[in-house]
Amino acid sequence: REFAEISIRDIDQIAMSSFPLCMRHLFEKLREDHHLKHGGRMQLGLFLKGVGLKLDDALAFWKAEFSQKVGAERFDKEYAYSIRHNYGREGKRTDYTPFSCQKIISSAPGVGDHHGCPYRHFSEENLRAALGKMRVNSRAIEDVMDKVRNRHYQLACTLTFEAVHGTSCDAGINHPNQYFSESQKVVQL
Ligand code: SF4
Repeated sequence: REFAEISIRDIDQIAMSSFPLCMRHLFEKLREDHHLKHGGRMQLGLFLKGVGLKLDDALAFWKAEFSQKVGAERFDKEYAYSIRHNYGREGKRTDYTPFSCQKIISSAPGVGDHHGCPYRHFSEENLRAALGKMRVNSRAIEDVMDKVRNRHYQLACTLTFEAVHGTSCDAGINHPNQYFSESQKVVQL
């Protein structure tokens, strides 16, 4: 089944139900701070493109947030380019693909960055809190933390998927957009 398009109207609900933790975190921070640094804009922006957010909607979505922080004019001048760039409409016109788990896990977020993989880059305390917010039960949280301690971050994400959706995910999670499409299969049943 194809999930060709999502609209900004539904995006908050879809983020709650079907985004993996790395993207939920970026999404929430963007809504909260009305800003994301470059690494976060790339990671979330390409993911959103991958789940079917069209360029015009992407521009409207980012502008609505960034305008509250830097103003609409500065958004148009400084940030719109990089969004069009993600969609291959600027520069070398490369059609950039969304980042895989491997790439995200091996990234190195600095202070004030919100990109990266929470299973790898969050403190234990923050990860536990984030999992609780996703309504992962305490038993499952311990299983997730066990995987994290053994540096099996994608398995930790797979266990989270299974706990949240109440179903097994035999393929395992290897890409945020795969997490999304597996989730939509369950959610849309
Ligand atoms: Fe995102 Fe992959 Fe990490 Fe899951 S394992 S939070 S999908 S980067």
